[in-house]
Amino acid sequence: MKEDEIRNRNAFNQYLDLVAKDIDAYLDASQFITIGCPVCGGERMTHEFRKHGFDYVTCLSCATLFANPRPPYEAMRRFYAESPSTSFWINQFFMPVAETRREKIFKPRARYIAAMLNGKGRLTIGDVGSGFGIFLEELRRLAPGNRYVAIEPSNEMANLCRAKDLEVSCSCLEDVQDMKGEFDLLTGFELLEHLVDPRLFLRRASQLLKPGGLLYLTTLNGKGFDIVVLWDRSKSVAPPHHLNFFNPQSARMLLEQLGFEAVEISTPGELDWDIVEGMIMNEGADVGRLWNLVARERDSGCKEELQAWIQKNRLSSHMRIVARKS
Ligand SMILES: [Zn+2]
Repeated sequence: MKEDEIRNRNAFNQYLDLVAKDIDAYLDASQFITIGCPVCGGERMTHEFRKHGFDYVTCLSCATLFANPRPPYEAMRRFYAESPSTSFWINQFFMPVAETRREKIFKPRARYIAAMLNGKGRLTIGDVGSGFGIFLEELRRLAPGNRYVAIEPSNEMANLCRAKDLEVSCSCLEDVQDMKGEFDLLTGFELLEHLVDPRLFLRRASQLLKPGGLLYLTTLNGKGFDIVVLWDRSKSVAPPHHLNFFNPQSARMLLEQLGFEAVEISTPGELDWDIVEGMIMNEGADVGRLWNLVARERDSGCKEELQAWIQKNRLSSHMRIVARKS
């Protein structure tokens, strides 16, 4: 998979410009809240950089990178529901690559999870932030006997899910009041990094799961290759959307504190090198002699080996978390 297949560079850069404008229009920095580390509660942190008016710090105990201070929950809920950049993301950015993403991302994801379910039928499965409902559609195709619930706060996207004949709870997971103890599996893709209060999210997820129920999340690893190399220039470091960058160790700590057992924490990402190379070759980024040399002088075989090494050593910025409610 290549970055350009799932993310048009121009559309993405246009989107990022719009986001910067929406930050000024929707978020009032005087109302931002200063927090302790979202994983360990630690108060000792070091300032890393400032981006679009957001300060990012690293916790000195667990190395979680996070935006601090950050907007309150209600302001972010409004931002996601109403901002023009969200609308652009849906219509101009996501729509044109939706079918490519179905093939490259959602189908493999559905296959992985269908294999994990191992033919067990009549399960209740919820996808948090289900967007266009493509993942649930694909999983339903592979495992048709289950009950599928799309948990999606945006009205526009919730309606798209209804049109696909999915059961829909049009809200954030944090606000779901019914269905306690009903879920065998909750999934949330590229979600944890967005949450103003990840501990609250995990507590609510735990309430909705049956005992022994599974949580399957993907998120950004703050100790992942392209993020560490590009740092504040990384497009993944994108306020106000991406507020939390856990790492394999701190993700485990967070889950265990909230009554989950970590079944798998891996980094199966495929794009780290491609993202760094794209920044060097297309946007003139200087990321040091070694990586500049690899980008300019080495062949695709070398780069594939590098990406495989990144994956295997849990150094990709794309992290997968599977956890069981104890
Ligand atoms: Zn910490």
